[in-house]
Amino acid sequence: MSLPKPSERAFVPFVSVDNMMRLVHSIGVERMLVELAAYIEEDFRHWPLFDKTPRIAAHSKEGVIELMPTSDGIQYGFKYVNGHPKNTREGLQTVTAFGLLADVATGYPTLLTEMTMLTALRTAATSAMVARYLAPKGATTMAMIGNGAQSEFQSLAMKAICGITTVRLYDTDPAATDKAARNLEGQGLTVVKCSSAEDSMEGAQIITTCTADKQNATILTDNMVGTGVHINAIGGDCPGKTELAPAILHRADIFVEYPPQTRVEGEIQNVAEDHPVTELWQVIEGQAAGRSSTSQITLFDSVGFAIEDFSALRYIRDRLDGTDLFDQLDMLADPDDPRDLFGMLQRAKA
Ligand code: NAD
Repeated sequence: MSLPKPSERAFVPFVSVDNMMRLVHSIGVERMLVELAAYIEEDFRHWPLFDKTPRIAAHSKEGVIELMPTSDGIQYGFKYVNGHPKNTREGLQTVTAFGLLADVATGYPTLLTEMTMLTALRTAATSAMVARYLAPKGATTMAMIGNGAQSEFQSLAMKAICGITTVRLYDTDPAATDKAARNLEGQGLTVVKCSSAEDSMEGAQIITTCTADKQNATILTDNMVGTGVHINAIGGDCPGKTELAPAILHRADIFVEYPPQTRVEGEIQNVAEDHPVTELWQVIEGQAAGRSSTSQITLFDSVGFAIEDFSALRYIRDRLDGTDLFDQLDMLADPDDPRDLFGMLQRAKA
């Protein structure tokens, strides 16, 4: 099935969770992570072109609901996403999302899609794309702390994009670690279940923290972090929700997506407002240094930025054409005479 051309607009293609899973399997998880990382990297290279704003967040006691808009002047995208760490106790996801892509020239939507699965893929692809610039050369082992919904995606992206061969799993809930170990069986990684965060970091050159708790947690204390490692801190992504002891931030070189958002949501909430950080797009564009020594601690203070979702939406739209992996959504009124909206309503009654 072909997607409608911008001039046709007969329908808006909609990708359900089922169809997203079919698409992922038809491409292959690791190949999709690699391709997504390339789209994200391409958009990071065009960073100055984008409209950028910190995401618009509605906080409650239990969680947050956020809108993440951006545009490159040709296409516009946004994601709706929540973050509710207590949800898993009720059998619900911590993070769910959907997103929309639109044509700037007309304002008409060109894609509506589930983004719960896609967020896990894009977050993992971003982590690994960034680690390629910042992690020590030849890194083979990653500690994966927090073995929830994101963890297998993070592990496979680091394998496919950075060449990680061993992942050391730890979660305060052993059932989560068992689940992740089971899911990663036969995926070409050596998987080690660990009994503490410290144990998981044994021999790891990359440390990923991806825990969910609505508080300033201390997943990593200062004395746990040796020199030369790359920390991929995913879970601290909301005001009052962080994972690292502040002392680590004073020893590390910190890399961020979009400072005005990360200052409010990232690990750097816990240091001074003018604490130095480097914007990742500048590293990717060769305008700022990434890893510059073997003893340096690099920290990706990841919060997730709208441009990564925009890249993921672009990717899905490109990959959808010629497949039957979407529904045709009748969500745009289309009267023969564009000014005769009321006439269309009357004719529908008849
Ligand atoms: P999840 O609820 O499925 O999993 C979180 C896991 O963390 C659980 O298994 C829990 O037992 C574990 N955990 C909690 N406290 C821990 C601790 N002290 N030590 C070890 N493990 C601990 O959540 P998820 O979907 O995997 O997301 C994880 C976090 O990542 C969330 O906070 C979410 O908001 C964040 N996230 C960030 C981005 C980004 O772009 N930076 C994207 C998606 C999700």
